[in-house]
Order: sequence, then C-alpha cells, then structure tokens
Amino acid sequence: MTTTGRRVAIVTGAARGIGAATAERLAAEGHAVAVLDLDAAACADTVERITGNGGRALAVGADVSDEAQVAAAVERVAAELGAPTVLVNNAGVLRDNLLFKMSAADWDTVLQVHLRGAFLMTRAVQKHMVDAGFGRVVNLSSSSALGNRGQANYAAAKAGLQGFTKTLAFELGKFGVTANAVAPGFIATEMTAATAERMGITFAEFKTLGAAAIPVQRVGTPEDVAGAIAFFASEQAGFVSGQVLYVAGGPLD
Ligand code: NAD
Repeated sequence: MTTTGRRVAIVTGAARGIGAATAERLAAEGHAVAVLDLDAAACADTVERITGNGGRALAVGADVSDEAQVAAAVERVAAELGAPTVLVNNAGVLRDNLLFKMSAADWDTVLQVHLRGAFLMTRAVQKHMVDAGFGRVVNLSSSSALGNRGQANYAAAKAGLQGFTKTLAFELGKFGVTANAVAPGFIATEMTAATAERMGITFAEFKTLGAAAIPVQRVGTPEDVAGAIAFFASEQAGFVSGQVLYVAGGPLD
C-alpha cells in the first residue's frame, strides 16, 4: 500500500461500483472520504465499510450536474471533513442507442452528468486545492472515448473528459494540482450488468464474451480501477499530469 498522507477526498458516484471501491481504497490509504452520490441513503453501505475498517467517511447526497447542489455539497465537505484536496469525478450514467434512435434528452443527460458534472465539481473544489497548494483531480474516462457503437453520447462525453483533464493540468499545475484521467475497459459493475440485460444476454455470458477479447482474458474489477486512481491521487504522482491511463487488460489506442 502506498502512503499518501491524510487528506480529504471526494469521490462522486461512490454509492457502488468503481466509485465505492475507490472511496474504500482512498480511505484505506488514510484519507477522510466524502462518499457522494445522488441519494445520501444509498451511500450508507460504502460509508459503513469505511468506518468499519477504522476510516473516516461522510455520506453526501448531490446531483453533480446541479450547480447549487454541487456548491452546497463541497461546502458541507469542507465544514465537516476539512478542505477537499483530492477529487475523483466518477459519477456516470449510460443512455445507449444507435444515433438514429438517440433522443436529444439521452444526449443531454449523458453530457450533463459526465461533463457538466466534472466541470462543476472541479470548479467548486479547485479553490480549496489552490489554497492548500496541493490537489489531485482524477476523471473517469473510458475505452469508449475511442468510439463505440451505440454510445455517441457517452463516447463524446468520455473523449471530452480527456480534453478537460489536459486543460486542468495546464491551468492548475502551477498551484501544485495535477489532473489525470483513468479510462477503464470492461469492468464488472451494475453499469455493465445493465448493458447485458439491455442486450438480452446474462451478465455471465456478457463477461465471458468480453473476457475473450481482452489480452489478460478476464474482465476488470472495480478494485483494478481503484488502484490506478489511487496512484494518480497519491503524493508521489506529483510529476504526472494531463495523462490518460487505459485500465483495460491490454493496450488500446
Ligand atoms: P455504476 O452505474 O455502477 O455507478 C455509477 C454511480 O454514479 C451510481 O451510484 C449512480 O447513482 C451515480 N450517479 C449517476 N448520476 C449521478 C449524478 N448526476 N450525481 C451523482 N451521482 C450520480 O457505474 P460504474 O460502472 O461504477 O462506473 C463508474 C464510472 O466509470 C462512470 O463514470 C463510468 O462511465 C466509468 N466507466 C465504467 C466502465 C465499466 O465497464 N463499468 C468502463 C469505463 C468507464
């Protein structure tokens, strides 16, 4: 385990999946963690696992695409846990469809949660990072940023997050703040389970099909992604900024 020192981290979309694993990993490394998701009650399990292991966590309910809710959430974290200097923009949704069937609402929802959400959260947290002279922003991109059938909205959002990440690296570097993106491939979570259901196959079949196309011959786990995020969030990653790391069991480009 790496030692990153005790800081305050916010992980969005941390009620389950990759966000929950990341919150637990950062807590295990000594951070106090704000477990943020749409519904504070849904964060209880993640918070209990952290506190049960001796860590410090706070459940925060907020919609990352809502400017007022984001401002209130970040203020609450600063008041109750301390100034946040690690931010993981992980909250996400899918609204997959082929272009000709994709509604404008499905386009907007995906762009708002991933892109507007990451923008609003980062803008609200950056002043705490700048004041501290230290910050770590980690954004969740995806292998779908390279293009994926049925995901015009999601691919655009995830590619957009890569440009956003690099711009943050340019703007915030002089304040001791780094920004990087982790781009997972197929990770077994409720998000991919829902995709299998939409495709009319079992999740087990979907994972077997996915694993066959991945060099390491298995699909990823939330902990695989949390490990990569924890590196970018660590003190020793201070000279690594503006990077996109694919966590996909093999090379992608
Ligand atoms: P998930 O669906 O299991 O969890 C996403 C969480 O985000 C949920 O708890 C949900 O309530 C929360 N959320 C959604 N909208 C929100 C909003 N507006 N405000 C606050 N919280 C909100 O998903 P996951 O598989 O754990 O994915 C996490 C991130 O990783 C997402 O950004 C996703 O796009 C990305 N990702 C996942 C995979 C994969 O294979 N699972 C691959 C690449 C990228």
